[in-house]
Amino acid sequence: MSHFDVLIIGAGSAGSVIASRLSEDRSCQVGLIEAGVMPDDPDIADPLKWTMIQGRAYDWAYRTAPQPFTANRIHEWPRGKVVGGSSCLHAMAYVRGHPDDFEPWAQAGGERWSYQGLLPGFIRSEAFTAFDAPTRGRNGPLDVYLPDAEVSPVVRAYIAAGRAMGVATLTDHNSGELVGTSPNSLNIRDGKRA
Ligand SMILES: Cc1cc2nc3c(=O)[nH]c(=O)nc-3n(C[C@H](O)[C@H](O)[C@H](O)COP(=O)(O)OP(=O)(O)OC[C@H]3O[C@@H](n4cnc5c(N)ncnc54)[C@H](O)[C@@H]3O)c2cc1C
Repeated sequence: MSHFDVLIIGAGSAGSVIASRLSEDRSCQVGLIEAGVMPDDPDIADPLKWTMIQGRAYDWAYRTAPQPFTANRIHEWPRGKVVGGSSCLHAMAYVRGHPDDFEPWAQAGGERWSYQGLLPGFIRSEAFTAFDAPTRGRNGPLDVYLPDAEVSPVVRAYIAAGRAMGVATLTDHNSGELVGTSPNSLNIRDGKRA
């Protein structure tokens, strides 16, 4: 029987990152157990197909209890059952969150859990190539892509309409300011889901 120093259950977004980081230390024996399959359906990699791959064999395909605030409807609740977990099904939007979102963490765990405390980790973790900014990283493992020429006319019109109404147009919704409109940063590289 294999010996593991660390055993991780679930090779989803979090489990895969933890396994990868821990196994950088070659002396650490890391086991990773996943209930699902390998992500070998080519549709997973195709960003345009993200709404079409739910319900396939690698989706746990949960359903909610009836929801009183949506007229008691039962909703589909997809979750990845695959190496990569829900990051193989998700919509690829990369949003760090608003600094205020981290305040309860900071209150519970100290300043290093605040947005400012976590910022060096955000910077280290991403490979963002659209432009340089002190809040953005270029050399991390997580590809973050900001659409430019590909932004559709409908989205451009939406952003322009917001501007006409006095809603700020953001150049970067991942640098702290989140109220406004902007194209969405995506975990895509070379046309493929990251
Ligand atoms: C349709 C959809 C769209 C989304 N869109 C976005 C988006 O645009 N941007 C964004 O940031 N987030 C998005 N999310 C959310 C994001 O995907 C999740 O928050 C994130 O992937 C959760 O990571 P996790 O590691 O907690 O869980 P998961 O990635 O779900 O990983 C859990 C893993 O554990 C495995 N597992 C469970 N039980 C066991 C067991 N008993 N034994 C072994 N393995 C087990 C599962 O099979 C799975 O692989 C979306 C999610 C979905 C489903």
